[in-house]
Amino acid sequence: MTIIPQQLAAVRERLRLACEAAGRPPDSVGLLAVSKTFGPDAVAQAMAAGQRAFGENYVQEGVDKILALRASHPGVALEWHCIGPLQTNKTRLVAEHFDWVHTIDRLKVAQRLSDQRPAHLPPLQVCVQVNVDGGANKSGVAPADAPALAQAVAALPGLCLRGLMAIPEPSPDVESQQAVCERVKAVFDGLKGVSPQWDTLSLGMSADLEAAVAAGSTLVRVGTAIFGGRERATAA
Ligand SMILES: *Cc1c(COP(=O)(O)O)cnc(C)c1O
Repeated sequence: MTIIPQQLAAVRERLRLACEAAGRPPDSVGLLAVSKTFGPDAVAQAMAAGQRAFGENYVQEGVDKILALRASHPGVALEWHCIGPLQTNKTRLVAEHFDWVHTIDRLKVAQRLSDQRPAHLPPLQVCVQVNVDGGANKSGVAPADAPALAQAVAALPGLCLRGLMAIPEPSPDVESQQAVCERVKAVFDGLKGVSPQWDTLSLGMSADLEAAVAAGSTLVRVGTAIFGGRERATAA
């Protein structure tokens, strides 16, 4: 017995209502199902309910799942997004197996991904991660540094720069969630034109997807509300 299809349906309904409340078309926000810490079975259940885009935080775990699902469901094209912090020693695996990377916050990582992207694959779709509210030890570039990084990333041949990603600090208060999301949106709008395909604002998770949609997110990353709570909150 599984409740993943029902929870996925409930998240889709939340998204639809959030779009309606924001006066946005219902198909203007994509849904990334964040399957980190859950096995291939959980992904397959979401697939059976029509989900095709999945997010993973831990590179090796993600690659294992990508290969397992390709073997078990050879006819189904999935889209895999790397949404975790990326060390330079993991870039080759990501370049060879993933379709997207959301967490570009250093040029060196972007250069390696570009160099290591196999020629038979389309360019890796990437977002620059921006940190509008965190301390210095949080991932993401400061808004002031985002333009220079975005320009440099846009010039790399193995990558296609699509937009920005952010992980706002958790806040129970919808108004402060929305204020932070609007700061991210302002940075996103300010960078328009840096890439010919600047169309993705990756913002919003289980707890703040309404605020993110109100602010202009085009892609929400939802784990807990689809797959349930995770025992392992973080890992290397
Ligand atoms: C885990 C994670 C998510 C999903 O968070 P939930 O609160 O479980 O919806 C989204 N984005 C990133 C970057 C994550 O690490």
